[in-house]
Amino acid sequence: MDLPFSESYKIKMVETIRKSTRKEREQWIKEAKYNLFNLRSEQVFIDLLTDSGTGAMSDKQWSELMLGDESYAGARSYYKLKDTIKEILGFEYFLPTHQGRAAENVLFSTIVKQGDLLPGNAHFDTTKGHIEFRKAHAIDCTIDEAYNTQMEHPFKGNLDEEKLEKVLKENPSERIPAIIVTVTCNTSGGQPVSMENMRMVRRLADKYGVRVVFDSARFAENAYFIKMREEGYADKSIREIVSEMFSYADAMTMSSKKDAIVNIGGFIGLKDKELFRQASTFNIMFEGFITYGGMSGRDMNALAQGLREGTEFEYLQTRIRQVEYLGSKLDEYGIKFQRPVGGHAIFVDAKQVLPNVPREEFPAQTLGIELYLEAGVRGVEIGAILADRDPETRENRYPELEMLRLTIPRRTYTNNHMDVIAAALRNVAERKDEITRGVKILWEAPIMRHFTVELDRL
Ligand SMILES: *Cc1c(COP(=O)(O)O)cnc(C)c1O
Repeated sequence: MDLPFSESYKIKMVETIRKSTRKEREQWIKEAKYNLFNLRSEQVFIDLLTDSGTGAMSDKQWSELMLGDESYAGARSYYKLKDTIKEILGFEYFLPTHQGRAAENVLFSTIVKQGDLLPGNAHFDTTKGHIEFRKAHAIDCTIDEAYNTQMEHPFKGNLDEEKLEKVLKENPSERIPAIIVTVTCNTSGGQPVSMENMRMVRRLADKYGVRVVFDSARFAENAYFIKMREEGYADKSIREIVSEMFSYADAMTMSSKKDAIVNIGGFIGLKDKELFRQASTFNIMFEGFITYGGMSGRDMNALAQGLREGTEFEYLQTRIRQVEYLGSKLDEYGIKFQRPVGGHAIFVDAKQVLPNVPREEFPAQTLGIELYLEAGVRGVEIGAILADRDPETRENRYPELEMLRLTIPRRTYTNNHMDVIAAALRNVAERKDEITRGVKILWEAPIMRHFTVELDRL
């Protein structure tokens, strides 16, 4: 008999989570104005709001905290992180920042100006925010297949060569400070980019004389998918794949709260000394001196260790197989989600699970509320509330996809928890004929309304 697959770690420390009663949850979600962001974490049993900063650090990472050097300039911790980044990612220069969006702020302050164009694959929202804040434009060049949720494609994060070349050909290179390649592509559902596609981007970038910047939060998960799915990579190690990936980039921004498995942190990796010098000025202004940049020495130590652990095959296999396991349970129960399963989350098709809730009553948010009531599981709406109003007409925007995202934190929950999540969703889906009404908005902020919106049930 083949031995079943199991985790590549054992548990040394635990945190108690409490199952509540449905009656308690009814009260709490009402007090939270039916906005899952307003719940206290103690009111949640299984928290799938995000995988950002919510993973479990290892014993080695915790011991690294004790070895942190808190010197303002030239700390040992800085050099430890610098050497690790050079070794694993291949960047000669680096700047620490307090998280990923801070890295974007520093780098884009250096290279992006009004009217610029930054083509890429479905830019992440903070990335887009930092581009648009500078009155520049993020141009989505993702392949069309990415937007067909039921279509199986191994690399739905890929950039479309024709779309990209059109932008590069029709605009002067001075107006294109960088092509942004997001690995994995968070916005399209944690979908990977193939090595072949990265090579294509590099080739076009060289042809037209523009930079390539990798938005790298989940670069290791991307490398895992390349190993498993792309021809010629099955026998390569994750580190070898990561090295080749970053050989095609001029710079990278990183949210270390994802694949570096720390609770807070980020950085910029750079190959060009002059660009590093220019970015250093902004780092000092916004983040801190260039040898700590918004991070404590101990945090830089834990991050360096996290980069090592996050690029180990056994860890990545455990991580991604858990997400796939949840997907297989949902398949068994006939619950539709975006295919194939991405690296860090499952995106449940809310219109399919709750077909009777009109889109004006926000089916994905309604599903999020129902799942919370059912089992204390907290997901997050990726649908019309998040899509916000049209800035000109102020009408609600209804995106094609109404999704409830179930994001799996790293090394945090067991497959028993996955079973609970799947069973709870199944129970909700079985009540679909009774769930015919959704929610209405009582109050909303003028932008980014999803964080603070107040709702009532209809
Ligand atoms: C999370 C994330 C960011 C932003 O990083 P923060 O650490 O949350 O500031 C940027 N890009 C991608 C792809 C991300 O997933």
